[in-house]
Amino acid sequence: MSQDILLYNSLTRKKELFQPLHPPFIGIYVCGPTVYGPPHLGHARPYVVFDVVIRYFEHCGFKVRYVRNITDVGHLEGDCDEGEDKILKRARMEQVEPMEVVQRYTREFHAAMDSLNVRSPSIEPLASGHIIEQIEMIKKIMSAGLAYETNGSVYFDVPGYAKNHSYGKLSGRVLDELLTYTRELEGKEEKRNAVDFALWKKADQRHLMRWPSPWGDGFPGWHLECSVMSSKYLGEPFDIHGGGIDLQFPHHECEIAQSVAASGKEPVRCWMHNNLITINGRKMAKSLNNFITIEQLFTGTHPLLKRSYSPMTIRFFILQAHYRSTLDFSNEALEAAEKGLQKIMASVKNLLLLKAGAATSSDVKSLRKKCYDALNDDFNSAVVIAHLFEAARISNAAYAGHETVSAEDLEELKSVMNLFTFDILGLKDENFAQGGKSVEQLMEIIITIRNRARKNKDFATSDAVRDELKKINIQLKDEKDGTTRWEMG
Ligand code: ZN
Repeated sequence: MSQDILLYNSLTRKKELFQPLHPPFIGIYVCGPTVYGPPHLGHARPYVVFDVVIRYFEHCGFKVRYVRNITDVGHLEGDCDEGEDKILKRARMEQVEPMEVVQRYTREFHAAMDSLNVRSPSIEPLASGHIIEQIEMIKKIMSAGLAYETNGSVYFDVPGYAKNHSYGKLSGRVLDELLTYTRELEGKEEKRNAVDFALWKKADQRHLMRWPSPWGDGFPGWHLECSVMSSKYLGEPFDIHGGGIDLQFPHHECEIAQSVAASGKEPVRCWMHNNLITINGRKMAKSLNNFITIEQLFTGTHPLLKRSYSPMTIRFFILQAHYRSTLDFSNEALEAAEKGLQKIMASVKNLLLLKAGAATSSDVKSLRKKCYDALNDDFNSAVVIAHLFEAARISNAAYAGHETVSAEDLEELKSVMNLFTFDILGLKDENFAQGGKSVEQLMEIIITIRNRARKNKDFATSDAVRDELKKINIQLKDEKDGTTRWEMG
């Protein structure tokens, strides 16, 4: 099924008709987390947004290779070339090995993504697993005369690169201004210019994560891993590079410069950036004490939270805004999202119980096209949700007897709701999640019916119930006191 999808390209600053380089294949790279602490709200947005992008591309018949890395080395505090490695700092605080930090927070990140129903990427490479490739890329940039070594570290020569290439074309930064506003270098520093960035850093004695290189023991600069791993798994150029807008500069700008310097090729066809999350109108920052982890949202344990919110409430809330708008978290906004989600889920259930009647008074037939049009217009999930609310309104009105729905329209409503709510927006009905309250109630009904059959010596029915449940991994246990328990697995 083909659709014409318009995508906003941060590089050209306009919406463009998306055309894959090698249809039906699409290569997408999204910068993954630096695993030095529990995943927080800032992690939820990009990965939910790109999960929907990928679900939609796949629905349209494309074969997507989605690469999302794990940064386990080289990300220094302040996101520049100074300060301690974020992972090493945490390892020192917790008195564990750096790789223990990496493993622990990678597991926490995966668990958070699972609860948000974010599917796994096709490939999830680690920066530390690609040190050889990173060294090779540095050598290429040095041979092109665009990097220099000082005292065991290697830096990218930004002014040298800018003589023949545009540095700042993605982020809109102007090199002359950067040179004016960045602080003067003191004589003892290794960089020739403050705007130059590290490709390789010399490891001092205390630095545990280190590898041998032609320039001595050290570790790669943060920007390098993404250039190396995206081109390794997706080729050069590839279709879409995504990430939060805070990564546009310097991270993504540096990625472009590195790739162009090493291979002469523009690495990415289309850059997609999601906007940031604010909390009560303010930027999320540790110093403002509004840094909320995903776990805290689910448990309601952060002081700013009035109560807990379910994973699907968070997912729905994120998708209720277009990905290029800022998104403000507040208790009121989350409560409204929860109500909205419940309304849609209730209408899905009502549709199952609804009986078809006379002709529908509302316009059902255009809903599907309107949802497609919204997604084709730069993945506007906010507008899709507005149309799902209209579908929910029709369903609920018909259920309450205020409106009628024809048989044909009823099928269409069910199909549109299922496709866009569950398959493409990736929402789940949490009432029917494992261990949810409704499952308990359902099981109670099933067990009562089975036990009634046994009492009547209708063993064919009672055995069939038990066997069918077993097929979906539910075990019934008959206790001595005549009661029946059930458990998963
Ligand atoms: Zn990256």
